[in-house]
Amino acid sequence: CGIFAYLNYHVPRTRREILEILLKGLRRLEYRGYDSAGVGIDGGNVKDWETNGRSIQLIKQRGKVKALEDEIHKTQDMDLDVEFDVHLGIAHTRWATHGEPSPVNSHPHRSDKKNEFIVIHNGIITNYKDLRKFLESKGYEFESETDTESIAKLMKYMYDNRENDDLSFDTLVERVTQQLEGAFALVFKSVHYPGQAVGTRRGGPLLIGVRCDHKLSTDHIPILYRSTGKDKKACTSLPRLDQDTCLFPVEEKAVEYYFASDASAVIEHTNRVIFLEDDDVAAVSDGRLSIHRIKRTVGDHPARAIQTLQ
Ligand code: GLU
Repeated sequence: CGIFAYLNYHVPRTRREILEILLKGLRRLEYRGYDSAGVGIDGGNVKDWETNGRSIQLIKQRGKVKALEDEIHKTQDMDLDVEFDVHLGIAHTRWATHGEPSPVNSHPHRSDKKNEFIVIHNGIITNYKDLRKFLESKGYEFESETDTESIAKLMKYMYDNRENDDLSFDTLVERVTQQLEGAFALVFKSVHYPGQAVGTRRGGPLLIGVRCDHKLSTDHIPILYRSTGKDKKACTSLPRLDQDTCLFPVEEKAVEYYFASDASAVIEHTNRVIFLEDDDVAAVSDGRLSIHRIKRTVGDHPARAIQTLQ
């Protein structure tokens, strides 16, 4: 089981390049063992987005990453030369715990037939039956036997029932994860938050690689290499924003982010890595990465605003 995601921000990439990066990331995670694999990328053609809106395309297959690769090549109507200035692609290798290995049980899982929200998950959600029962009572139709699918559907339920329109992606993820029991590393993508990525973990591993050609602002990187121990000294001498919130801004806005289950998948791209800790929510929005620690209590409203430093 492995998670890999790639976000390019003002670094133009064709769909072909994005898929290659995602598949390569999955291949690096192959040693962890898996029975199926899948990717979620932006679908359609860039020029149609204005009229038809954004769409997300899922390609999933049982078996090796090679089988997924073949499936991608078989996919019709996919212009591989379309270029994205900003894009998030997510990819997953699955080690089935709930539901047999099959294309429909593979990740990413989706909130609905329009793929409004998709999620990749490593781990087990122990209260998924309760969540599923609740969501089915609200009219949601499940297509897989996995525990993961209830996360995607809960995401849409909470989004559709939001109390105001400016709900941020990371706040939404925070609310969803407050309802989850078990162990997980998760990465989300949504048509409602194009070009944004949110990842979180509790019990499962997740790290973020950062790559940019320009100098990173060193003013506010209090958690760079936070968990590795080795660079602790450099860390503690840097200013902290507050106990739980930190930002990782870049001076020039051209940056690539990688989310991965372990460092072997990102090391060829960058050696700047942030290891997330339990209950961290990491969000990339407008090219900036922010990380904050969530409170686990259900109903605890996220009062802390994430600041944007210039
Ligand atoms: N429990 C999830 C499933 O069975 C995720 C398994 C994994 O970590 O790959 O689909």
